[in-house]
Amino acid sequence: MKKIILVIFAFFVSLFKSPAHSVTSSPIPSISPTPTPTATPTPRPLTFSEMNTLYGPCVYFPTLMYHHIQTPEAAKEKNQTGLTVKTADFRVQMQYLKDKSYNVISMQDLLNFFEQGIKPSSKSVLLTFDDGYGDFYTDAYPILKEFGYPATVFIPTGLMNNTDYLTWDKISEMAGNGILFSNHTWSHKNVKTKEDVLKMEVSTADVQLNEKGLNIPKVFAYPYGLESSSAISFLQGLDYKLAFTTKSGRTLCKKQMLDLPRIRVGNGSLSIYGVI
Ligand SMILES: [Zn+2]
Repeated sequence: MKKIILVIFAFFVSLFKSPAHSVTSSPIPSISPTPTPTATPTPRPLTFSEMNTLYGPCVYFPTLMYHHIQTPEAAKEKNQTGLTVKTADFRVQMQYLKDKSYNVISMQDLLNFFEQGIKPSSKSVLLTFDDGYGDFYTDAYPILKEFGYPATVFIPTGLMNNTDYLTWDKISEMAGNGILFSNHTWSHKNVKTKEDVLKMEVSTADVQLNEKGLNIPKVFAYPYGLESSSAISFLQGLDYKLAFTTKSGRTLCKKQMLDLPRIRVGNGSLSIYGVI
């Protein structure tokens, strides 16, 4: 019995001792020295002159990108507020370009620079509208016509004639009045896709535009702004001259003719978007 009590006592003693024991006996964990962090500098955008050396010759001006132009009421009703510039604001923006003596140029003017070195004025601007929505005809086109501004509309050709999109009749009417209708694939497809899908999408739209005598010179805009090297080489093969992304920038360079940046415009004065 005595023995049993002793064993139990020894057990309890060991319980109380063990934590202290374990602490003192464990080696102090060796702290590996914190590796010196490699400083990754925030990539700074290349200057115009660096761009010119790498990809030039380049020109510097904004290519404005719009989607819907409509009243706030219509935008709200259709849940399109995010992609809408209010018609009244659009008019103010176009007036602003006039007041500031901007030259609204055409795609051909930009191409003349790349192909023949004919430099557009330093206060140039390009106007582009994506997706071919019906409100381009009702709300944007009358204002563009009033100011005599050329513009480019990138249309997913297969969606035309659907509700809320332009009709081919209206497209041909506007094409005769300074509006260029260009390739935005057939069904508004992201071209970062399978090779056969990319080819079908781009070439179907190309054929449809050709048949109607549109898209001269050949210009393309990547749906969702997503470009890919295979899309670029396919466009080259079809003799596309210019292609636009949604990347933000205003330095347009010859070696990036199929990978050009734009400036996304919202409501308010164009000065907010760096057009000064
Ligand atoms: Zn689009």
